[in-house]
Amino acid sequence: MKHNAYICVLGGIAAGFRSRRRTIIAAMAAMAVLPIDASDAGRLAHTAKSAPRHGKSPKHVSSPKRPTVKLAALGPVALHPSALKPAATTCDPSKFRIVLDVGHTAESEGAISARNVAEFVFNLRLAQRIEEKLKGEGFAETRLLVTEGKARPSLVKRVAAANNLHADLFLSIHHDAVPNSFLENWEFEGRKSHFSDRFSGYSVFVSRNNPDFETSLLFAELVGKEMKANGLQYAQQYSQAIMGRYQHPLLNKETGVYSYDKLIVLKSTRMPAVLLEAGSIINRDEELKMDSPERRDIISSGVTAAVKEFCDPRWAILGPP
Ligand SMILES: [Zn+2]
Repeated sequence: MKHNAYICVLGGIAAGFRSRRRTIIAAMAAMAVLPIDASDAGRLAHTAKSAPRHGKSPKHVSSPKRPTVKLAALGPVALHPSALKPAATTCDPSKFRIVLDVGHTAESEGAISARNVAEFVFNLRLAQRIEEKLKGEGFAETRLLVTEGKARPSLVKRVAAANNLHADLFLSIHHDAVPNSFLENWEFEGRKSHFSDRFSGYSVFVSRNNPDFETSLLFAELVGKEMKANGLQYAQQYSQAIMGRYQHPLLNKETGVYSYDKLIVLKSTRMPAVLLEAGSIINRDEELKMDSPERRDIISSGVTAAVKEFCDPRWAILGPP
């Protein structure tokens, strides 16, 4: 179903489970040897009880990368105050290693845009631009992570690569689509295509099961704040019931940060991890914007500013502007 667009993050996995017995067997085999909770992929634990205990582990106490942050007003899901515990130390940009994970693979391309371009193509171009900007700002250890192979094994490979690189921060780059039930038909350049103009915008995801959830949230907030400061609006549909099993708890109604607790790349990475859905490529207007160098510049500058703020002690002292 190559040209069947789907919501980018979960869709590939969910579609595989629905339609291909071989995928199910392969995934079950993977689950036997790896700590993957695929059966829970569509079921999110929304209760505070399921969230990790914040600030208890020695790793959190000694983390050298977490500046102070004043979090904006929280949305529907309340967080324990200790999740926002400040730290006075900061990071050295020349040694700070951020892994930019290019979502999906050349073989398993993610969503298909309204004009039949693979999400992987959008993800790669944007991640490359972010890499350029970060390196230009002195973040010499920035690593672009391009993964090969099928969808699910690639998730495990990403996590292993980031862990082996001893990354300080993990940022996965994606572009959004919609569940199949929202798709409408049209023709683009004589070819039957699918679109949905109903939703648009970026969104930022973190997992409350990440071993350093509070730092993940801190960086996610900075990314969302920068997107907003650049005039972008977040995708609000993920908190709505119409999204069904794609619904996610909104952690901050100002910045568009959602939790996505079971996502492998966010929960199994041993460093703070954030996923950015940069914008919708199934929305016909927004696809054109996401395809433009100007929009890539805006988003990559925003991400770079967020990383700089994350590392900058002056920001930690002064607080958010
Ligand atoms: Zn994706």
